[in-house]
Amino acid sequence: MAKPFYLTTPLYYVNARPHIGHAYTTVVADCLARAHRQRGEMVFLLTGTDEHGEKIEQAAKSKGISAKEFVDQTSDTFRSLWKGLEISYDHFIRTSDPAHQLLVQKVLERLKPQLELGSYKFWYCVPCETSFGLREIDAAKPLCPQCGRPVSQIEEEDYFLPLEKHRAWLKGYIQQNPDFIRPESRRNEVLAMLTDELPALCVTRPKERVPWGIPVPFSPKHTTYVWFDALINYISALDWPDDGKFHRYWEEAGAIHLVGKDIIRHHCLYWPVILHALEIKPPKMIFAHGWWLVKGEKMSKSKGNIVDPQAVVEAYGLDAFRYFLMRDVPFGEDGVFSEEALVKRINSDLANDLGNLVYRTLTMLEKHTGGKVPGGKPDARISSQIQAAEQGVWVGLQQIAPAQALKALWELINHANHLVEEKAPWTLAKENRRLELEDFMHQLADVVRALALLLWPFLPTAAESIWKQLGYSGKLSAERLPSALSAHIPAGQQIQKGKPLFPRLQ
Ligand SMILES: [Zn+2]
Repeated sequence: MAKPFYLTTPLYYVNARPHIGHAYTTVVADCLARAHRQRGEMVFLLTGTDEHGEKIEQAAKSKGISAKEFVDQTSDTFRSLWKGLEISYDHFIRTSDPAHQLLVQKVLERLKPQLELGSYKFWYCVPCETSFGLREIDAAKPLCPQCGRPVSQIEEEDYFLPLEKHRAWLKGYIQQNPDFIRPESRRNEVLAMLTDELPALCVTRPKERVPWGIPVPFSPKHTTYVWFDALINYISALDWPDDGKFHRYWEEAGAIHLVGKDIIRHHCLYWPVILHALEIKPPKMIFAHGWWLVKGEKMSKSKGNIVDPQAVVEAYGLDAFRYFLMRDVPFGEDGVFSEEALVKRINSDLANDLGNLVYRTLTMLEKHTGGKVPGGKPDARISSQIQAAEQGVWVGLQQIAPAQALKALWELINHANHLVEEKAPWTLAKENRRLELEDFMHQLADVVRALALLLWPFLPTAAESIWKQLGYSGKLSAERLPSALSAHIPAGQQIQKGKPLFPRLQ
């Protein structure tokens, strides 16, 4: 049985159109999923949309349509964006799915003995759909710690899940499992949240105030808090508590949740406690990435500085966009998005290094060996460089460090470009040193072949194109690593040179 691998993106809240931040998490998740599939693992990549809560209802009202019509439209926008970005998810869950709603109700029934009904006062941020304890916000300056917008104080009768009794357990768990919350800076932030008593988590909302939510099975006056509803998706998509998928992906593989750093409170505090209360083990890892800043500021609707991923892809191509997101900034840190930086990456890394290597290799094969791959001796140095690149890529991806993985891959590209200069196949041809020329051209074709295999999780379109240009007719996605990398390109294979992969931009 293949090794299972379970990876999730957050469920994206459908109150607004997707932006580059959504695309970022999802592109990295897709790359990881592809790399694990390529190594023969049984992958389950989950994404979807979070569709309840008062903000959705408000947004629907402002458009003059029902909440259901609104979420159908916006959820579609996300799905069509993922299609355009070639996201290979295995399941797209919507919190309005009947099966998910039933499961949330099942979870609430199971937690009922632990829930407390009470009248509570709290600070509430409507845009973030997040409540804060009275002591967490300065009453003299009531602003949301997450988004900086004004919060209001609310008092209502709701069901609460006490968190305090789980605090010592969670703190100990985080301390004993250094990889549970990554990167280190976020882990420290969560540990700091655990130094003081934790206010209980309100898991319901009065139906009168928030009718657009999952009905609470034991209280007709209440609907389910949208964040509680959304977090449950990670197990409802696996049909918990049925064995099968849940056992394979949650218990055996362990979940890896990719999230943005603005939602660590929900994922690193609330979620492990909900699971602990249900006697379900915590996820394997929660990795919080940084933000893309535009001109020094976080993107937001109110600032009007949102970068539309679709527009970037239309202007610069999908592979360039995916490459920039994964290469420009280490996953976990904040990055700066600008067209200048994107163009610089395209020209130096994609056009100059990768595109040039592929194009000149195919051109030389056309010119010097009649468009066919010559037979030739493999070279030990080149084989070991390919192997080193494979290892560097895989180590980087297992560390959830795509930038590091790409650096390892570019070392191979740079080595090969140097080697072309050093060997000067055009001189070998001129001096009619056929054996040397054929050996080298075969080796170079092997490097380009390895590049297609290793690039595929990152830049699927470019990789498929390289594969076809090398004359392969089969699907690149069907190749398995590392075994495919020790094979050589067949002598006599007819290449199909195309246009340069990445033309230089002005
Ligand atoms: Zn807020």
